[in-house]
Amino acid sequence: MTSKTFCALPHTSFTISTKGVRPCCRWDKWRSKKIDNGKMGFDIPLSEFSQDPQGHLENGYFKTLREEQLKGEVGGCHKCYFDESYRDKHTMRTHYNEKYKNIVGEKSSPDNFKQLKYIEIALDNICNLECRMCDSESSSKLFKRDKFLGIIPATRYEKDTTILADDRDKFLSDITAGITPSAKYETDISFLNKLDLSQLDTVKILGGEPFMSPNLEPLIDLLFKYVDPKKLTIEFATNGSVFPSKSLIEKFSKLEELILWVSLDATHKINDYQRMRGNYIETINNMIQLENILSNVFLGFSSTISIYNADHMPKTKKDIENLGYTYTYGWVYNSSSSLEFVPLWFRDWLKERVKGTEFELVYENFFLDKKYDHFEWHKFIHETKVLDQFYNVRLVDYNPELDFVLKQRAFEQDAGPKKETCRYCNEV
Ligand code: SF4
Ligand code: SF4
Repeated sequence: MTSKTFCALPHTSFTISTKGVRPCCRWDKWRSKKIDNGKMGFDIPLSEFSQDPQGHLENGYFKTLREEQLKGEVGGCHKCYFDESYRDKHTMRTHYNEKYKNIVGEKSSPDNFKQLKYIEIALDNICNLECRMCDSESSSKLFKRDKFLGIIPATRYEKDTTILADDRDKFLSDITAGITPSAKYETDISFLNKLDLSQLDTVKILGGEPFMSPNLEPLIDLLFKYVDPKKLTIEFATNGSVFPSKSLIEKFSKLEELILWVSLDATHKINDYQRMRGNYIETINNMIQLENILSNVFLGFSSTISIYNADHMPKTKKDIENLGYTYTYGWVYNSSSSLEFVPLWFRDWLKERVKGTEFELVYENFFLDKKYDHFEWHKFIHETKVLDQFYNVRLVDYNPELDFVLKQRAFEQDAGPKKETCRYCNEV
């Protein structure tokens, strides 16, 4: 294949995220083309999508995206494009292009959705952890923290979000009244019955934490109604802290393959700082135990790299590979701890910390199109401080080197007058 933008997924797949239906989890609607009434990209509300799922896959934005890719436009696919240009030739795009090459290719017409092979489902937001880079749309545990940080605008939960609160009216009135909502979100999966699932070969399930969700088993039962489990792979993104029930394990044993991608942000206690209430040793042990029970498991570990854990990646990768497992990593985006906006001195500090390892180049490439942002950096310093108080923890106990350098140099790049637009200047 020669096209750098063609991807099999908009021809064969869809993803239900907590924000709407989209072509895949890596898709970035903020960089996608404006369509219709000037709206950015798309997250098709599930309520709308579920009326006529096949129609949505054939037409509308799925078709626009297939056409864009045919014309060589990168748009919302910039993460795959970036990774292929600077990091790794093997991305989600290349993986599925290879996997579905007998079904769809770069010469395929963009007019039709080919065949449903792969679905990704964010089941609900029921989770036991409070990861710093996450939010209450994805973790029910984070309502209190989000409220504390003042980031639960009711508008985020209005009609056009995908996930339906079990009591939406109460949920919205609670938010309006300043009460921490207790309602959880769940994806209504019954619309799957309207689709032809017979050729489905892979389903990826995310949460919250899928292994603690009461919605997981009904989903698996629904899939088994239409697809022979021996021809079905189910892939999970799990935080590894919950051991699946006996009944789930029995169902997993019928699958062609069970793929477990375990979120582990370091083989070091900084994991437990970033993934609040997590425990990296328990996570690793749980998943190895599960792998030992079943014979059809692929087990891999994945880190989400942020300011907090970036300097621990070389050791983490080495530790996981020494255990004999696949290791991969991605980046924190759209969160104060993202590496996107760090000052230049921080880049140098990080480079020094990972000197002599492959991460020197990984970070160099990552920073190529990034720029220091005063506001985002101050927000990071502020949130680190107030969340340490909120959780009664101290960064110094988890990553003393980072804590030290922040105390010494945090405002080095800000010499000069305060930025009027930064509301954190007086708080950091
Ligand atoms: S190219 Fe990447 S981001 Fe775009 S649809 Fe394919 S997998 Fe998703
Ligand atoms: S485990 Fe996943 S869903 Fe839960 S808080 Fe962490 S990132 Fe969010």
